[in-house]
Amino acid sequence: MFLTITATGTPERPATDLGYLLHKHPDNAQAFSTSYGTAHVLYPEASVERCTAALLLEVDAVALVRRGKGKGRGGAPDAALAQYVNDRPYAASSLLAVALSAVFSSAMKGQCNARPELPARPLPLRVEVPALPARGGADLVRGLFEPLGWTVTVEPVALDAEFPAWGDSRYVCLVLESARLTLSEALRHLYVLLPVLDDAKHYWVSSDEVDKLLRAGEGWLPDHPEQKLITSRYLSRRWSLTREALERLELVRLAEADDSAIEEIDNAVAEETEADDAENSQEKSVSLAVQRRDAILAALHASGAARVLDLGCGQGQLVQALLKDMRFDEIVGVDVSMRALTVASRRLKLDSMGERQAARVKLIQGSLAYTDKRLKGYDAAVLSEVIEHLDLPRLPALEYAVFGSARPKTVLVTTPNVEYNVRWETLPAGHSRHGDHRFEWTREEFRAWAERVAGRHGYGVEFTPVGPDDPEVGPPTQMATFSMNTATPTTKEEKAA
Ligand code: SAH
Repeated sequence: MFLTITATGTPERPATDLGYLLHKHPDNAQAFSTSYGTAHVLYPEASVERCTAALLLEVDAVALVRRGKGKGRGGAPDAALAQYVNDRPYAASSLLAVALSAVFSSAMKGQCNARPELPARPLPLRVEVPALPARGGADLVRGLFEPLGWTVTVEPVALDAEFPAWGDSRYVCLVLESARLTLSEALRHLYVLLPVLDDAKHYWVSSDEVDKLLRAGEGWLPDHPEQKLITSRYLSRRWSLTREALERLELVRLAEADDSAIEEIDNAVAEETEADDAENSQEKSVSLAVQRRDAILAALHASGAARVLDLGCGQGQLVQALLKDMRFDEIVGVDVSMRALTVASRRLKLDSMGERQAARVKLIQGSLAYTDKRLKGYDAAVLSEVIEHLDLPRLPALEYAVFGSARPKTVLVTTPNVEYNVRWETLPAGHSRHGDHRFEWTREEFRAWAERVAGRHGYGVEFTPVGPDDPEVGPPTQMATFSMNTATPTTKEEKAA
């Protein structure tokens, strides 16, 4: 799936301003992982006169099916094979729209800290989507984009170029041109209208889709002649949601456009962060969390690691600490939770970070219960307060993914010491420290687990107490430092190396 955005410019208004607006430097090719594939942003052309940004989405069709299953795909009667062999990887569609919003979120909101005057300025734009599934044909494509100020060129794509008699496919090649729109408007048009034209069942439709639609439609959807069709198709013809959206659009029109929608999201995320911080402090662990971070930093220093994985990085506190320390030149935060990663990215100010810093850090979404080649070849990996969040039967999968497949030279694992729980004044007897902990281990249990894992995968292991080491019950947090054996290769991977 592929889409290009081209700006044209003059020496006074260079086309390369596009790079500032998109928050992506024209000299860099960048890749962003998502749970259904990888989004690449690159600039085939970047001069004062013309600058083109390309968004290429490489869809992992298998991951898509797996992910869809977990969420319930709304009962599409697909044959088993059609789930794997379909047009998702090639045609611009809902997934491309989701990638647009993930990769260009600031541009979509019209934010640009480096050049605050830019987002409000219309610029000469050309958008090209070579393969767009268009249910409703060329007429509908024009009917959707022309009222928004675009000049539309739409060419049907033949089913098979060698056999014109077979007629056209349901795909079109779309070119949009306008000099009147801002980039934020252009992106928000695409974000809504690509899935509308695709009109496939989106398995992610949920009630917050109404919010997303209204946010992206701000300033144009309330007055669009095809508002009803757009709304109902975007919401996958869910009538209750469609009605809610149409009613709210009417209210918006009555109240006149408001800037508060974006602010609301920002506030919501800020509140969540505060709530999480408060949760942490219940564990008395504001200071324990700091001690844990210090212990991890000390162990990383001792190992000499420069390239570090923070597995289950949560909201990015450790990533932030690592970034401040120039001994670490590559830091990768991994988490399964997109919400956590969003908060982490805000905490780190990834969007407005200087290029040198940005080159040192990456946040990726992934599950530690699966092997992942993106995680191979690092000096060290940290699992800070993560293992106890996995169901015990899933733990061997994590062990293999980390110690068997990713195989960093050093692995640090911290986890609560359940023996210490009697020392927490506020913790009722027999309760774990956090609602989401699936287990909490004694020192003996942790030691037995760690020694077994180390033995199986060719590591040595040492234990360090973190926090006050109580003579009777031990410390609140226990840490294991695994170091890969260099002398005697014991695993297949090592022998091969
Ligand atoms: N490391 C951080 C956060 C610990 S909370 C700290 O020390 O403060 C546990 C984190 O692990 C959560 O962010 C959760 O989303 C993540 N997590 C749980 N199971 C995971 C899995 N299977 N794969 C990746 N991350 C996971």
